[in-house]
Amino acid sequence: MKVKYSIRTSEILFERAQESIPGGVNSPVRAFKSVGGTPVFFERAEGAYLYDVDGNRYIDLIASWGPMILGHSHPTVVEAVARQVSVATSFGAPTRLEIEMAELMKEMVPGLEMVRMVNSGTEACMSALRLARGYTGKNKFIKFNGCYHGHADSFLVKAGSGVATFDIQNVPGVTGGTAQDTLTAPYNDIEAVKRLIDQNPGDIAAIIVEPVAGNMGCVPPQNDFLKKLRTLCDLYGIILIFDEVMTGFRLAPGGAQQRLGIQADLVTFGKVIGGGLPVGAFGGKRDIMKAIAPLGNVYQAGTLSGNPLAMTAGYATLSILNQHSEIYSELDHKTELLEKKLSEALSANGWTFVANRLGSMLSFHFDVDQVTNFEQASKANLNTFKKFFHHMLSRGVYLPPSAFESYFLSNALSNADIEYIADMAYEFKNIG
Ligand code: PMP
Repeated sequence: MKVKYSIRTSEILFERAQESIPGGVNSPVRAFKSVGGTPVFFERAEGAYLYDVDGNRYIDLIASWGPMILGHSHPTVVEAVARQVSVATSFGAPTRLEIEMAELMKEMVPGLEMVRMVNSGTEACMSALRLARGYTGKNKFIKFNGCYHGHADSFLVKAGSGVATFDIQNVPGVTGGTAQDTLTAPYNDIEAVKRLIDQNPGDIAAIIVEPVAGNMGCVPPQNDFLKKLRTLCDLYGIILIFDEVMTGFRLAPGGAQQRLGIQADLVTFGKVIGGGLPVGAFGGKRDIMKAIAPLGNVYQAGTLSGNPLAMTAGYATLSILNQHSEIYSELDHKTELLEKKLSEALSANGWTFVANRLGSMLSFHFDVDQVTNFEQASKANLNTFKKFFHHMLSRGVYLPPSAFESYFLSNALSNADIEYIADMAYEFKNIG
């Protein structure tokens, strides 16, 4: 007899959580506010599977929003972390591990000459922007609508991810003084970037971009967008920052820079480099990085930065990726297969949608013709998205609980898992 899907324990925990934690969660999109229902509370994860507190199993298509590229509880990573726990967890002083991590990152990422470790993607982007401003002596920067670079004040203008999910137009607490230095343009719109540069002569320190956007669903760059940004930055002395928090070590060993063949001046990382622990990093050209304290006066610091436990998880993860670059073609094939199978299932049931994919980043936007920027992404049918999300959730497939997020696959996903996901999608009927 088939047991009915129940998340009773999650419901009880969610009630309890809301008494002590705002919204019951420590990061907004987790609360399922935009899709409705109760967020699932998890207990355990292994390979491609998540297990919730009620004993339900889910195939994971989020991979902790990117980091778990090798799957959960990868034995090599677990063993390395366990070993390190018994040695030391924090010194607040230099370690050999940090050098090894920096050297490995440099080996993998083209053009990375120096790198500074931090604790999150937010910190990485915030610090890279400060550095670009400090180095150039200019104040303004350009970001793209629907891109998310963490929750530092300057970036919370026309941001993607949770800011888009909750449709927050002006984030209270971000002052007008701060926001006025954030210039925004539609993604993939090079003419809009040129106009901003013309309107703000000599004032623009940096352009920051997700080289493949993942915070409005997945939106790949089009028509040589990144190459044209590179040219504009060179022409006007603007620092080009690639936010590779999602794409770094995911799209290729050297991230989007390597996969798409464009070199940024500064790059930010997060997610995969922590192997599931809280890590971020920013790096790039030596000449620019030398402006950071203690070499220069652009101040940046962190009590737990370069933390040995986090470095160990990150180093173990990156080493596997570096030594087994076939993982990237495997991931590409799996994601391509998932895109194909899901598309077939949804089409067979009369749904209309756009599937966007680059490498192991994938998303579906319902009832739109194309999605090349946030304006188009936000026209997608959120109601259908919600229904699809819950349909899949109750059948053991964990999709991102927001239409403005990308799927992230892990290499632990099997072909049988993909078949199962497709079978469940076939049961998602369009009955008007
Ligand atoms: N940049 C990008 C592209 C991201 O996707 C994210 C998080 N999803 C961040 C920055 C912020 O990273 P964190 O959540 O680790 O602060």
